[in-house]
Amino acid sequence: MEAILAIDVGATWLRVALVNREPLKIVKLTKTPTPQSHLSSAIPDALRVALKETISGEKLCGAAGIASIGPLDAAKGTILRAPNVAGRPTSVDVVSPVMELGLIDEVYMINDCNAAALAEWWVRSDKGVKDLLYVTISTGIGGGCVLSSRPLLGRRGNAMELGHVVVDPSGYMGCGCGGRGHWEAYGSGGNVIAFARRLLEDGLIPRSSSLGEYVGSGGSDPSEVFGLYRSADRGAVAFCERLADFEAAGLTSAVNALDPEVLVLGGSVYLGNRDFFAENVIPRMKRYLMLEAPAVEDPVFGEHSPLMGAALTCVIELKEALVTGRR
Ligand SMILES: [Zn+2]
Repeated sequence: MEAILAIDVGATWLRVALVNREPLKIVKLTKTPTPQSHLSSAIPDALRVALKETISGEKLCGAAGIASIGPLDAAKGTILRAPNVAGRPTSVDVVSPVMELGLIDEVYMINDCNAAALAEWWVRSDKGVKDLLYVTISTGIGGGCVLSSRPLLGRRGNAMELGHVVVDPSGYMGCGCGGRGHWEAYGSGGNVIAFARRLLEDGLIPRSSSLGEYVGSGGSDPSEVFGLYRSADRGAVAFCERLADFEAAGLTSAVNALDPEVLVLGGSVYLGNRDFFAENVIPRMKRYLMLEAPAVEDPVFGEHSPLMGAALTCVIELKEALVTGRR
């Protein structure tokens, strides 16, 4: 059977896969670290190598789907300046390496979180789920959504950049994107320590606490914050109270805007600290929630949700994601 070519350009990993159409299943996968410098050339080059390795001797169906870190220009098939990748490229062409194969007629491109939402909705669609919100809380924070069984993509494929919704108009913390007061600047794995350090400097975390000592001495591992929270360190407990407000504000704002039936939560910060979210964040959402709470579920496809979503753009022929604007 001819396979779909599916690609996931993540901040940390680049994955290229062959996906069987029915049943939808990864049959071959190449996973390689995403280059972190000279991105405009290094990412396409790494993609060429992974493509060669993956498609060697295999039959392809002529369509490829790409899920990628954003922001994107999906019509042109490029990644624009990404906040969570070292080197922050101005533009990365991820479609040319695919077209150069001479085997692909159509390429679909979609933001990785929108791809993950599409896959997580699709796997639940036979149970009648039509409205699903996907949120990943990891190095960054991202979101994707399917409403009335259609993915929300936006003008250039950048709808649902949830990490950059404003949860603090005072702008206490600056975000990697250049904005201020964004959810990601407080609640992502890449920024939790910076947030704690700022509070420490402003005297809002006691220096004599274990968290105060850890952050004050240059500690940089966000998982240490949650470890200290579990050991009931007063600095970490005080910090996590504040953190929970921001996580709950971000999640609830998305739910209030979209009215999903299911909220799929993923990402290393969430999956590694379910106790913190279950005790502090999910109950706190009720303070802000105007609508009925959605069911909170795990990603069925785990770390492969974006890759499966990329393959699905080809299966459902998602016209809004078709790369058309290339010269
Ligand atoms: Zn931002």
